[in-house]
Amino acid sequence: NPTLHALQDSISRAEKGNHTLLYPSGLTALTALSSLLSTGDRWLIPDSVYSPLRRYAEYLKQALGVSYDLYDPANLHALPAAITNTTRLIHIETPSSVTFEITDIDQVVKIAKSKNVLTSADNTWAAGVLCHPLEHGVDISILSLTKYPAGYSDVFMGSLTTRDIQLHQRLSYHHRVLGYTVSPFSAMLVSRGLESLKIRLHAQGDN
Ligand SMILES: *Cc1c(COP(=O)(O)O)cnc(C)c1O
Repeated sequence: NPTLHALQDSISRAEKGNHTLLYPSGLTALTALSSLLSTGDRWLIPDSVYSPLRRYAEYLKQALGVSYDLYDPANLHALPAAITNTTRLIHIETPSSVTFEITDIDQVVKIAKSKNVLTSADNTWAAGVLCHPLEHGVDISILSLTKYPAGYSDVFMGSLTTRDIQLHQRLSYHHRVLGYTVSPFSAMLVSRGLESLKIRLHAQGDN
């Protein structure tokens, strides 16, 4: 649908990526990360993570045998030792929900790349404006478009943005198989919100 493509392009530009997939909510976009994990794999999430993602990690562990480990985003010295040979993904969220820890993205990416592990970043609090995780080498940037981008509390949506075509294709296959589509009307509402995003965000900061 052309309305969806227009929004995908806008999010890709905002996130400084090449490919964007749209999901029915921010949480759905986050849970789609499980398409990169199989039974026996592990992933790392910050102990300050958006709590529904932690609940999902617990669900994945019980339902599919995909285990998770927690790391302290304010103390990355312990992170390398937390990566095992079955760790496939390190998830970042900066600033963190509620407690607002700032993660040194470059440091996490450096550690992850040295161990050949993918990285994802929930960029919701920076709204896709104040931080660009993909520019720091993160593989997948995630937004709850429900929040700052849509801006008017009348629509739910989430996005995953990548630069790498092969990674995009893996995520895209899962997106298609599970039928994660959004309506053109919802996409129009988010596109409308994007037009005033920067102004709203800066006014909110000033206030
Ligand atoms: C709200 C939020 C989400 C989930 O977004 P929904 O669109 O409400 O599902 C994910 N991450 C963070 C950091 C959030 O604040």
